[in-house]
Amino acid sequence: MRKGIFVSATDTGVGKTVICLAIASFLKNQGVNVGFMKPIQCAGVDANFLKRKLEINDPLELINPYFAKEPIAPSVAFRRQGIRFDKQKVLTSFNELRKEHDFLIVEGVGGLYVPIKEDYFVADLIKDLDLPLIIVSRLGLGTINHTLLTVKLAKEQGIEVLGIIFNCRKKQKLGIPEKTNPEVIKRLGKIPILGILPYLPSIDEKNILRAGRRINLSAIIQEKTIFNHWQALDKKYLWHPFTQMKDWLEEEQLVIEEARGCYLKDTKGKWYLDGISSLWVNIHGHRKKEIDSAIKKQLSKLAHSTLLGLGNLPSIKLAKELIKIAPRKLSKVFYSDNGSTAVEVALKIAFQYWQNTGFKEKNKFIHLENSYHGDTLGAVSVGGIDLFHRIYKPLLFETIKVTAPYCYRCPEDKRYPSCNLACLKELEYILRKKNKSICALIVEPIVQAAAGIIVWPKGALKKMRQLVTKYNCFLICDEVATGFGRTGKMFACEQENVSPDILCLGKGITAGCLPLAATLTTQKIFEGFIADYKERKTFFHGHTYTGNPLACSAAIANLEIFKRERTLEKLVPKIAFLRNELKQFSALKHVGDIRQKGFMVGIELVKNKKTQEPFPWEDKIGIKVCQEAITHGLILRPLDNIIVLMPPLAITKKELNRMLQVTFKAIRKVTEI
Ligand SMILES: *Cc1c(COP(=O)(O)O)cnc(C)c1O
Repeated sequence: MRKGIFVSATDTGVGKTVICLAIASFLKNQGVNVGFMKPIQCAGVDANFLKRKLEINDPLELINPYFAKEPIAPSVAFRRQGIRFDKQKVLTSFNELRKEHDFLIVEGVGGLYVPIKEDYFVADLIKDLDLPLIIVSRLGLGTINHTLLTVKLAKEQGIEVLGIIFNCRKKQKLGIPEKTNPEVIKRLGKIPILGILPYLPSIDEKNILRAGRRINLSAIIQEKTIFNHWQALDKKYLWHPFTQMKDWLEEEQLVIEEARGCYLKDTKGKWYLDGISSLWVNIHGHRKKEIDSAIKKQLSKLAHSTLLGLGNLPSIKLAKELIKIAPRKLSKVFYSDNGSTAVEVALKIAFQYWQNTGFKEKNKFIHLENSYHGDTLGAVSVGGIDLFHRIYKPLLFETIKVTAPYCYRCPEDKRYPSCNLACLKELEYILRKKNKSICALIVEPIVQAAAGIIVWPKGALKKMRQLVTKYNCFLICDEVATGFGRTGKMFACEQENVSPDILCLGKGITAGCLPLAATLTTQKIFEGFIADYKERKTFFHGHTYTGNPLACSAAIANLEIFKRERTLEKLVPKIAFLRNELKQFSALKHVGDIRQKGFMVGIELVKNKKTQEPFPWEDKIGIKVCQEAITHGLILRPLDNIIVLMPPLAITKKELNRMLQVTFKAIRKVTEI
């Protein structure tokens, strides 16, 4: 990469400073560490202005070593003020700044023939700094002469001229000179035109970035990979979750910079439909005004205070709202900050309840095959996905794993409904035999999400509830994925009118804005911890950011939007549309099963449809389909060979349709062609 550029102009007042700002902002936005220098300034505040706009920390003395008060030629201004110009000071400052930055933009003063001392001109300074030159030129009558003379002088002096940028300083209609001059200059001066910038009504961030985009920057910095700069830094410094970093380091990756509605924009400016709700969290679209402003409003009052020994307003208001909408038996809210901790809290509460109430031997958990409850060790102990969980086995506590409903690959080799839910026989048997040593059953109700969107047959959850009640154990429902409208109801438990003893919430609770989780319990469980201080029945658990006010205020705004916009009501026709459109996927040769519950969809790809033989997982078929979708502007992330569709609830039918079309084509392309 070059070390920098020198920006001069054909005249004064042409707009060099704004061009410098546009170039610097754009590069900065690409992750380039850009510095700025204005060696000589006669009156004005350019150096300070850019320092502020670019948020540069270098001292002003380095950015602008020479300042004169009068807006006249530097040689005269310096003489009148008794300033002795020494080019060495400029070169030293330049080298200091170079140590801090990868690329320096140096702004000149006036044009090339402006005298800094009697025998030292701006052109001499450019040569001493050994920088290539960009000439900023005025768009309009008279510019051919000025520009060509500047180019001629630069070339005579042996300065490398990268090209011309035309700048429009006033609001004007483009006449014949404005339209033809750049072409004439390009031809006569044999010089590239790097950009023609329109009039900027204001110097705000948006306009500046837009201007920067209109400049041919790869010519300026001589480095194509500069546009992958963020990606390079990511690869240098980050370790990504659930990611084989060997693949990550070898492959092209997106870096997301901005979002709006159901779309995400990467650092190259390309927009993508967010087909997985930013990993199952987004509900009302990105940058939802009401949520953003609720967070800002709370920020102006209190960002954080602890719930250890103190209360705070948003956590109280949210708890009240959560209890209002939660299944009927739940009455207390315990906060944490992610789904895994919500599960840890649930497990510890269930365990300690029985300890506190004198049933010391009720200390085992039942969980299901294919279950996923998070990645902390307690949550992994009740996890049933071999690929994720096996390695940690020696670190985990002992549990009882039982078969779970999975109709496509039925553990009993039966068909619903004639099976009579035979898959739950094992659960019933264990509960009958061992209930005295069992404290709770933990499940993801109705949809086992991480296992591949496995949807349970009707009645399974209700049956589990009945069994657990009959044998005096607790039912923990982990609705981290299914909660907040995902299945079409606020909570999946409502689908079968089930009320758990403990409910875990996370992911969508803040509509995808901030990390927050909650564990809700019944009054009965809560009272198992009420005792005299000395009895040590306190729940000794709490996270530093428990009940964070910013996150809670986002969650409150989320629930208000559900009410005001009737989000769930509006979802009904969209779910039906999705169901109907998904039918066409069964025509694809390698689609084995299509599972849907509300806005949770899993499309299982198999090598052989008849025998249900899976693709070998090391073939990465699911990953390949999603990579293909991404090239067509749709972000997806698979679970093994199951393609997951989980768009924000706010998505429109038109966007849904596009998501389905792209997915369909991607599956066909990867598996059939
Ligand atoms: C995502 C998930 C978790 C874990 O939540 P994190 O916020 O990632 O810790 C737990 N349970 C279920 C059902 C989930 O889908």
